[in-house]
Amino acid sequence: MRISDRLLMGPGPSNPYPEVTMALGRPILGHLDPRFLELLDETNDRLRQLFGTSNRLTLPVSGTGSAGMEASFVNFVRPGDTVVVGVNGLFGERMCDVAVRHGAKVVRVDAEWGKPIEPARLLEAHPHPALIAVVHAETSTGVRNEIAPLGEGKADALLLVDMVTSLGGIDVAVDRWSVDIAYSGTQKCLGVPPGLAPLTVSARALGRRVERPSSWYLDLGLLAGYVNDTAGRGRVYHHTAPVAMVAALHAGLGALIEEGLDQARARHASCGTLLQEGLAELGLELLVSAEQHRLPQLTTVLVPAGVDDAAVRRELLSTYDIEIGAGAGRLAGKVWRIGCMGHTARRRNVLALLAALGEVLGR
Ligand SMILES: *Cc1c(COP(=O)(O)O)cnc(C)c1O
Repeated sequence: MRISDRLLMGPGPSNPYPEVTMALGRPILGHLDPRFLELLDETNDRLRQLFGTSNRLTLPVSGTGSAGMEASFVNFVRPGDTVVVGVNGLFGERMCDVAVRHGAKVVRVDAEWGKPIEPARLLEAHPHPALIAVVHAETSTGVRNEIAPLGEGKADALLLVDMVTSLGGIDVAVDRWSVDIAYSGTQKCLGVPPGLAPLTVSARALGRRVERPSSWYLDLGLLAGYVNDTAGRGRVYHHTAPVAMVAALHAGLGALIEEGLDQARARHASCGTLLQEGLAELGLELLVSAEQHRLPQLTTVLVPAGVDDAAVRRELLSTYDIEIGAGAGRLAGKVWRIGCMGHTARRRNVLALLAALGEVLGR
């Protein structure tokens, strides 16, 4: 066996849905093959179901979740626009960085890492912002921010929501919440390898799109013709679709829809509860005190005093084949981040992690 195979074929619990693995093993279609175009159409329909939207412009952007973030800002922010950004974690910080690079005047609304952002503070931060941006599920802290009140109170602003870690794991309702632009990623709760950024855009937002954004690759005007027949001429070549990744996403979304979106959310919820209760029984402290704002799919737990953070994670991986995340950004070294996402959100994985962590910590 070659080293790459040995490294990648561990029996760890982080395998994707079997349907996804099978899709990646099938012959690769040409990117203009009618069968691929049908697959892309169906993928976009499945994405609409997951996002809870009827937005015509819904597509997997080529690139990881951050490409969805970049596409959202480059197509809807003009130099000098005021953009209100909620920041209670690393990904809110990243939004500020991206917005500033595209010339926005950023009005930051900070909340403590580990606490949700009060929607009223975002709505009152500026009298007439062009856009309000917030992360739904902060993967760096395990906090869920409220979206519905922002849709109700946004007035003339566009509402942009990062749904990278929420899509497929907790309730998401783009149309019901009046979200104008939302993006996600494949490798979080969709259980598909990284490489695509599902994006959905309302008709209201499309009406305010930047005509010639500074990115050619992420220009939604060009991408619209790549995903939909916009002028009765069929699809227009823009860039080569990453066909294997689209096939994997199609299969992963199919598995989720077949399971039932409510079922999948309930599975994430019950794993989150089992994990969070189990961690408390081990005498560990959770970062997020407000239970109703805790994500089930990403749990942050404080590294106990006197414990070697990296050594514990190394031991979990080498002896038990379980990977947990280190703290990110200003929580580096202070917390562990335990993901229970997509296909990994299973009771047996949670029970195995709790038993292993108990052994490693000697509790
Ligand atoms: C992972 C993540 C991103 C970035 O996605 P990449 O796939 O790493 O580019 C953005 N926002 C949130 C909330 C994330 O969890």
